[in-house]
Amino acid sequence: MGKRDYYEVLGVPRTAGPDDIKRAYRRLAKEYHPDMAKGDKKVAEERFKELSEAYEVLADADKRKVYDAYGHEGLKQQVWGGQDFDWSRFTHAGDVRDLFDQDFIESVFGRSPFGGTLFEDFFGARQRQRGPRRGRDLQVTMAVSLEDLLGGTRKELQVPRAAPCEVCRGTGAKGGKLVTCPTCNGQGQVSRSQSRGFSQFISITTCPKCGGRGQWAETPCSTCGGSGRIETMSTLQVEIPAGAPDGVQLRVGGKGEAGDPGARPGDLYVVVRTLRHPVFERDGRNLVVDWPITVPRAALGGEVEVPTLDGSARLRIPPGTQTHTVFRLRGKGLPDMETRRRGDQLVRVVLVTPGNLTPEERRLVEKLDSLMGDYAQASRGSPSREPT
Ligand SMILES: [Zn+2]
Ligand SMILES: [Zn+2]
Repeated sequence: MGKRDYYEVLGVPRTAGPDDIKRAYRRLAKEYHPDMAKGDKKVAEERFKELSEAYEVLADADKRKVYDAYGHEGLKQQVWGGQDFDWSRFTHAGDVRDLFDQDFIESVFGRSPFGGTLFEDFFGARQRQRGPRRGRDLQVTMAVSLEDLLGGTRKELQVPRAAPCEVCRGTGAKGGKLVTCPTCNGQGQVSRSQSRGFSQFISITTCPKCGGRGQWAETPCSTCGGSGRIETMSTLQVEIPAGAPDGVQLRVGGKGEAGDPGARPGDLYVVVRTLRHPVFERDGRNLVVDWPITVPRAALGGEVEVPTLDGSARLRIPPGTQTHTVFRLRGKGLPDMETRRRGDQLVRVVLVTPGNLTPEERRLVEKLDSLMGDYAQASRGSPSREPT
């Protein structure tokens, strides 16, 4: 399912000012905060994230501008470096303190025993810093021909990457056998008492033995040495959508490098590059071609046959066509990735001066020359002027 429109999510008109947006977010976030909501927690959490994402964008003048002009895809490409929004991108955690009243903050965030940095609890910092690290994202570039971009295609890709070890199924343990970590009792974290000045703090840190995983390989897998990963060449299938823009990044979830045992793998980003074509040049959705025509054909007008990605097409040119005039063949370009509407093909005719004339041609051109005399001088500044 596609993403919902941010204005719709917050229930505000597109003309809403910053205060309206703030007010809408404040009201809805209270209603749907997972710790406050009645009913299905999972649904509430999704809704809360959706709200906060919409707020992240609409409360920021620059991001809002990008969204208004280019939508979700524009934000992804121009603001979030080709990735979807996630909690590590939520920059309004600070504002949230101003947004809500103290009662709400305490009721939601005050439950944590650590005091202070309670928002980070919800806003992802916790997941990012604690526990096994997720795998690295990978990026590969793929050159795709215009023919493949016309209809979309499926490509096979060889990617060198650290994949989960098949012998231990990525666990790092011999036979895949993990036991509960004895240091943290499977909690993944250990607490330590610390004093700072006159105060006593309880600090909670990632378990050093299991790295936050809560499980432990008593006997490491001998194939991967306990890392759960193996360097390999993976063959992956990638779906290239019709009309994929040059430079667009396609995300293939989970096909980056394997993470620490028990952690999520990274994602693979395939950067689409348009392969150079012998005939056409790509300009966004449009295709551009230089097409040679003879002088008599340009003078008399008529039809010329030009190649398109769908086979040849007939192009009508008017009498007296000048060199480098651009004609448009509607709907012969590439499709838009989202709307599927096709761009145009722009044909720039280039007049070819004949050389290597046969005696017959030479005779005719000489005749024409004597008839036309200084036509070229006479038409200076007015190339379409009729000869006198
Ligand atoms: Zn542990
Ligand atoms: Zn292994």
